[in-house]
Amino acid sequence: MVSEYLANKIDLKTLSNLQSQLVGCFPLASFSRLMQHSADQMPTDTQISLAFSLNEQGQRLIVGKVEVVLNMVCQRCLEPFLWNLNVPIHLVQIPEGCKVQSLPEAFEWLEGLADVTTLVELLEDELLLALPVAVSHPLDQCDAQIVKQLQVQDTPEPVKQVESSQFFQALQRIQQEQSKKDHSD
Ligand SMILES: [Zn+2]
Repeated sequence: MVSEYLANKIDLKTLSNLQSQLVGCFPLASFSRLMQHSADQMPTDTQISLAFSLNEQGQRLIVGKVEVVLNMVCQRCLEPFLWNLNVPIHLVQIPEGCKVQSLPEAFEWLEGLADVTTLVELLEDELLLALPVAVSHPLDQCDAQIVKQLQVQDTPEPVKQVESSQFFQALQRIQQEQSKKDHSD
């Protein structure tokens, strides 16, 4: 099944009044803040599936999911690898003039979001929140020397020291490269 590209501009009022669904793909590059976490700028798509509805209080509910494969850098071996991000969406928008009595459980309130908005406005924070703080390969697939050492050494104490010193060396290297880059820009 070939999915259609969704338009960025959406009207939450119309979509929820009509109980519409939006299913299709959307360019990852449009999520510029999310792209900063990607190791390359490969053109890829997110898969979006959203259902819009109204509850008895007149609140607009947006339920669905966003799936994307991001090219991340492994924090252990510093090699790129693919990370599947699968983010469930449970959002509620409260129209102007509609009292906020109680919010549906497990829904996140989109405060101050206009009726006519964009998929990027609606979803990017959700995607960013779903990103792990540090990502790495599963141990058996990671190239890091640290991991190899972990596998051959059997005393736990020295391993910890090796791991943290190498980790901080790697971190320092990244920071140095980053500051070099910043200066040369
Ligand atoms: Zn790795």
